[in-house]
Amino acid sequence: MRRRDCAGAALELVRGDITSQATDAIVNAANTTLLGGGGVDGAIHRAGGPEILAECRTLGGCVTGDAKLTRGGRLPARFVIHAVGPVYRDGRHGEPELLASAYRRSLEIAVEHGLRSVAFPSISTGAYRFPIAEAAPIALGTVVRFLVARPGTLTLVRFVLFGDADLAAYETALAGPACDPGRGVAQG
Ligand code: ADP
Repeated sequence: MRRRDCAGAALELVRGDITSQATDAIVNAANTTLLGGGGVDGAIHRAGGPEILAECRTLGGCVTGDAKLTRGGRLPARFVIHAVGPVYRDGRHGEPELLASAYRRSLEIAVEHGLRSVAFPSISTGAYRFPIAEAAPIALGTVVRFLVARPGTLTLVRFVLFGDADLAAYETALAGPACDPGRGVAQG
């Protein structure tokens, strides 16, 4: 596990399963229909039960780069923030900006609802094929900038990586320029 203080909030990297996280909200790597899929999405709906899908059906989908909130059903987390990352084509179709937007909108929604702790999976790096070495600095950099811009809102942002290689990619990014201490991340 890697942990850093970021403007008074904890930024953590762990290897694990997002569905077991007891943060106020977990983030789902959803698709635009919000009606379920494979990967993290399938795992969250399986673990959380049918209540989540029933609520998703009322939301009218979600555009890429945005996110929507439901309750957490049977999950330890009270809420699920369903974020839609981009499908990666070649990196020149707005994918980095849309990925950053999916993270930023998730954090905004958490704060709007008074939530203090959020766990993210690695959005878009599975079925959506975003190269993880490119995605990790975007993910972490977006979170760092948000925490610095909105101190006193969130107390914990945790990235829950499913495998050792994914965790290693995020550890590399956390040590890199996207998370430069000069941009507000204290060394820890
Ligand atoms: P996307 O369609 O946005 O690419 P995926 O669900 O296919 O989303 O994959 C996103 C990442 O989540 C991948 O790195 C995948 O290995 C990982 N993942 C899959 N299941 C879980 C889980 N239960 N907890 C955390 N991460 C998971």
